[in-house]
Order: sequence, then structure tokens, then C-alpha cells
Amino acid sequence: MNVRPRPGRLAFAVVAFYAIIYGFALTPRAAGGRSRAWKPPTLPWPFDRHPKPRPPADSGAPPLQPLPGVPFAAIPPLPESLVPIEGQLVRPETREWLYIVVHHSAGAHGNAAEFDKYHREEKGWEHGLGYHFVVGNGNGSPVGAVEVGGRWIEQLQGAHAGAKATKYNQHGIGICVVGNYQEVEFPEEVYPGLRDLVVWLAKRYSITPDRILPHGEVRGEPTECPGKNFPLERLREDVRQALK
Ligand SMILES: [Zn+2]
Repeated sequence: MNVRPRPGRLAFAVVAFYAIIYGFALTPRAAGGRSRAWKPPTLPWPFDRHPKPRPPADSGAPPLQPLPGVPFAAIPPLPESLVPIEGQLVRPETREWLYIVVHHSAGAHGNAAEFDKYHREEKGWEHGLGYHFVVGNGNGSPVGAVEVGGRWIEQLQGAHAGAKATKYNQHGIGICVVGNYQEVEFPEEVYPGLRDLVVWLAKRYSITPDRILPHGEVRGEPTECPGKNFPLERLREDVRQALK
């Protein structure tokens, strides 16, 4: 015998179906849930180039959770200057970092996006920006502000130490400060951002002052980079104090 659905029954079924769906959607979360409050950001992984902003200090939000495979204690506290880039700076340990190699851009003006474009289009580097970090000089990017390159975010080897310096590209964190410090004095207002970055990285990866190197020492061929006025010894001393 053929049972045909009666219109009344069908209408009831449709209404009941939607009532259940909407019922779930409208049911408030359990008490104590964070459905309306600020939600803690999950640290960007894998490769989130647009990390969520840090919660305001007074939000009462729980602290950030450790990354998988990274002991929380291994992440040094961030100085105020690095807080805006926290989500890009704190990375899982997928590459062994042994050195910090410092550079200048040799030009008066610039920023990470400009150098990235140059490295992609003129040098033909698939991963773009050869440095891991760029520190601005106020001329193309905010003075003393740290920009994080895609190679750092993805923990790729750099392309900053020269083709003959494989070890320093693979295991060296490349930091470029915008400016030509062979020609001009190093601006005092640029220094704190650079120092905070280098000190934090040195703590994070246990990089001692003797492994903070100027480009000229690792390249295998002469270069003035990062210039005679670059505050290398001052940086090493600040790292020495910080690691005590
Ligand atoms: Zn250089």
C-alpha cells in the first residue's frame, strides 16, 4: 500500500526541523562560557600571516597558551616594543637558530614590503624578503619599529648572508636596519627597537654575544654592511647583560 505524506504532517515536520535548528542557534552557552566575552587568541600556526591582536591588558583574558612542542618557559617575556608583533615573533622550534646577522639596507629609505618586492622581482627569490626582520628608521617605516618577514613567520632560511655563507643563511637570523651606517650616524631613536629584538632573540635561542655577527664577517667576500657606525659592540654588551 502506498502511504503518501499528508500536507499537514509535512508542514509540521518542516516547522519542527527549523525549530530544532534555530533552537540550537539561539540557546545561550553554558554559564561561564566565553561566548560573548573576548576569546583568547590561538597563536598563529601554521603560517597565519594575520595573527589576532593581543587582548587589552584589562580584559581579564587568560594568558596565551604555549605552542605545541614549545615549553612555555622557553619564551622570554616580551618588552613593550615587541608586543604588537607577538603573534608573528613567537614561533615553534622547527629550525635551529645559532646566529644573529646584522645588516643595514644601505639606502636611506625603506621598509619590509619594499625590500620584499625588490628581492622577489629583481633578485627572483621565491620567498621574497631575504631578511627575517626589518627595523625602521622613520623613513618609509616607523622609527625603531620591527617588521617581521615571511621567512621568519614560516621559519625558512634567510637570503641575507651571501650565497657562500650557507650556514649563516640556514642558521642565522637576518636583521636589517634601514639606513646607510657607513655614511650616517646610527640614529639613537632606532636603537631601542633593535636592542629589544636582538635581546629577546638571544634569550629565546640562547645566542651569545660572540654569535651576533655583522654581515661583513660572514659573507666570505668583502662588504661594508652593516657600516662602521652600526652599534654592534653596544648590542653585544646589552645582550651580555641580559643573558647574565
Ligand atoms: Zn648585509
